[in-house]
Amino acid sequence: MTKYFLLFLLPLIGLAQKQSLDKQLFEAYDNFKEVSLDTRRFKHEDIQPLIDSLKGEKGFEITVLGRSIQGRNISMISIGEGETQILLWSQMHGDEPTATASIFDMINYLKTDKTILNNVKVHFVPMLNPDGAELFTRRNAIGIDINRDALRLQSPESQLLKKIRDSLDADFGFNLHDQSKYYNAKQTSKPATISFLAPAFNVEKDINQTRGNAMRVIGKMNGILQRYARGQVGRYSDEFEPRAFGDNMQKWGTSTILIESGGYFDDPEKQFIRKLNYVGILSAIEMIGTESYQTMGLDKYLSIPKNDRKLFDLKIENLSFSYLGLDFIVDLGINQQEIENKTHSDFYYLGKISDIGDLSTHYGYETLDAAGFTFKVGETYPKILDDFEEFMNLDFLSLLKQGYTSVSINDMPKEIKFTPMPMNIIDIKKIKIPKNNTLPASPINLGMDATFLLRKNDEVVYAVINGFVYAVKENKNDIKNAVVK
Ligand SMILES: [Zn+2]
Repeated sequence: MTKYFLLFLLPLIGLAQKQSLDKQLFEAYDNFKEVSLDTRRFKHEDIQPLIDSLKGEKGFEITVLGRSIQGRNISMISIGEGETQILLWSQMHGDEPTATASIFDMINYLKTDKTILNNVKVHFVPMLNPDGAELFTRRNAIGIDINRDALRLQSPESQLLKKIRDSLDADFGFNLHDQSKYYNAKQTSKPATISFLAPAFNVEKDINQTRGNAMRVIGKMNGILQRYARGQVGRYSDEFEPRAFGDNMQKWGTSTILIESGGYFDDPEKQFIRKLNYVGILSAIEMIGTESYQTMGLDKYLSIPKNDRKLFDLKIENLSFSYLGLDFIVDLGINQQEIENKTHSDFYYLGKISDIGDLSTHYGYETLDAAGFTFKVGETYPKILDDFEEFMNLDFLSLLKQGYTSVSINDMPKEIKFTPMPMNIIDIKKIKIPKNNTLPASPINLGMDATFLLRKNDEVVYAVINGFVYAVKENKNDIKNAVVK
């Protein structure tokens, strides 16, 4: 009986084993995600306890490589006993944290399963620029871009990265960044959710064994990521930058893979992109250990579409408006810029018109066709409110339907810069009197706040408030925040 039962089970076991590593990683991700890092603005004090908790964990070595300019420890976590040395570093730009969070997910995975570490030793350096991360800024505490300091090595963060590369004589390097969410895969409307680069080591962009191996690994990683984000992988420009780390790492003999985390639909905190890093990088570690990348042709790398920068958060097509008696039809590109809200270590959005004209070559994460609608500048509600509390009690939908997009407040607390309500606030104390001998300004212009109405048959159908759309007729409110002006 038992024998027959086993015979019956065998093919099932076979099937289970055939499931590819990337699929297993993707499906079981939630078991390994480091849940304490669930937004992008985490700081050194948030990751240090995670590093400390690894002391004594079997198979893990923790090395303090040095300190940032402001004295924050920069640590390396090493796992594995193989010959091939893989060095991964993240967040040399302080406002590019996606892969740092992924590194802690990968570490959680490697605590329970080290089978992918055959023949390799992996060294993670998370958050190379903790001082920049503290303020969520690109540069370090003295305003240096660490990625332009690979030759002069003036910053301690740069020095320790160079030193560790040399002492390991790393075979592979993973240079982990974030890129603008406005990059798309060239000639498609798809965001470049992940972009790769095997950086050049000279102006001629020659391909030697070191760079070729990076290209081969990328070619294979691209094949994997396409399963989870089809068409959303791009290739970063390979123009040689003599001061950058990636380019020099390649020159120093480390096969270097740049990974840029871009944008993804409805993923402002980049949690899905973080998961793609996890799946892609752990798969890459496995393929380096087994050397399975070596059979990849370079054409697989070269066929990844280039990065382009043709995306907007919101694209409005065919908008007609009049100015000085002339009629125009334009497309608008609207971007929701993140403004740091330092006291709370989070952010709010400021929606601005970033481009105007024929934007038929561009795309939007969201697109709205304004053909057949009448453009109207939003009005300010005539009654000046006494205070913020009165504002919070307004019937916003009714005001939008009446054509109001802002409300003035007499006694507006200075510290409030935005609200979750779908209506901008005008702080009476900040109003500037326009000069009266000039022509009126165009109702649409570059850099303007993206706030206006689209009407049909004298009814407001859409209110665009601070770059977000409120479908007034359906009462569908997608406004993340409005602002105080
Ligand atoms: Zn970067």
